[in-house]
Amino acid sequence: MDIVQTVKQFIAKYYPRDHLYIAGSMGVLFLFLLVVPGGEKGAAVPNQTTQIPVSIPITNDNPEPTEDSVLNLSDYVVTEEAPAEIDLWQNVEIQSGDTPSAIFTKVGLSDQDLFRVLNSSDEAKILNRVFPGYQLDFLIPAEGELEQLRVLKSPLEGYLFTRANNDYNVETILKEPQIHQAFKVGEISDSLFMAGQRERIPAVHIMEMANVFGGVIDFILDPRIGDQFSILYNEQFLDGQFIGNGEILTTRFVNQGRVFTAVRYIDEEGEVGYYNPEGESMRKAFLRSPLDVFRISSNFNPRRRHPILNTIRAHKGTDYAAPTGTPIRATSDGRVTRASRYGSFGNLVIVQHAGGFETKYAHLSRFAGGIRRGDRVRQGDVIGYVGSTGGATGPHLHYEFLVNGVHQNPRTIVNRLPKAESIDPDEMDRFIAQTAPLLRQFEELNDSRLLSLNQPSAD
Ligand SMILES: [Zn+2]
Repeated sequence: MDIVQTVKQFIAKYYPRDHLYIAGSMGVLFLFLLVVPGGEKGAAVPNQTTQIPVSIPITNDNPEPTEDSVLNLSDYVVTEEAPAEIDLWQNVEIQSGDTPSAIFTKVGLSDQDLFRVLNSSDEAKILNRVFPGYQLDFLIPAEGELEQLRVLKSPLEGYLFTRANNDYNVETILKEPQIHQAFKVGEISDSLFMAGQRERIPAVHIMEMANVFGGVIDFILDPRIGDQFSILYNEQFLDGQFIGNGEILTTRFVNQGRVFTAVRYIDEEGEVGYYNPEGESMRKAFLRSPLDVFRISSNFNPRRRHPILNTIRAHKGTDYAAPTGTPIRATSDGRVTRASRYGSFGNLVIVQHAGGFETKYAHLSRFAGGIRRGDRVRQGDVIGYVGSTGGATGPHLHYEFLVNGVHQNPRTIVNRLPKAESIDPDEMDRFIAQTAPLLRQFEELNDSRLLSLNQPSAD
């Protein structure tokens, strides 16, 4: 069967599951938000220390202040003037290994106090399931008397328990963050990641950007010095404090003069995706490469001299040299048909994709946790790690791409795959209504920033 035809059927059949992938990457994104350490965490929670006007009565008896006296301004802060209620709140951020009992002890409360709260409502059972990063705020106006307890799962969500006689009433805390938009531009002088970091773009957004453009740009081979990119994304604030990053709204990468623009669109079913301004999905049937960082050490070659056997033997795949342990991604959705050792392939993963496609990943140092035969994987899922098991001379991934059982060149087959499906013509008006204002704003921002980029700047 004609390959293009096969791929068209494949995309027609599997394209609707796009949202799963997006949802998956959002999940990863969310995890990142959780694990990436940041000074911002919990910043929105009322602070124990209050801002007090400081008057420093040191000039009289100290006409020439020493360095010490200037540095120790905090010695002169008059804490007694703080509003009483704020002073009495004690904030505890849950660390790994903390138990509710230990925390209650720390703030001068007993196990009885803990049980009293625990038994007051179903919501209070959250105290038995506190995780690192949760915040507990205690209001204890008199020693050992817990008046209020606030349990925050995040700056936006939690419960407030208020004492009522010997019991506690519960209220749900649910706050809406204020959304601000951030716009950044950058220029490649080394890698996308380095350039993004220079512009203080959150790492999670740099990765997401590489993900969005992953079907059209090979971020190792394609970028050139001088390539430019820009990104418009949401940031969340609570009471004026930064609490986290929101989604990417629009992003652009200019690669060797070719302009790629992607805009976020929520379709009629509520599914989120990134599209070019013409309404074509940025997502492609297969990723251009199964690794993010690599060097091609051997191309597909039907008549190659084998490095160990020194005979003419077809090289039926592409070799990507990369350090041992580099994550390997499934290049498309599919089902794992093998995840085990297999002769000179060493540790081998085979993924069967719909439409007669198959990809093979060989010489792995190890398999990704839980990957085994029969599992379903999605495009971009990590399935294993680079190694040199089997007949490998050094750490690399040997990657094969088969169409109806016939080996194809993994690096050129992707160019022969048809473009991803576009927005349904019936939905095009909706798409334009949602994305046009965003794109217009993005263009204006780009125009103004690119003008200022060409001016000498202080930063
Ligand atoms: Zn190879």
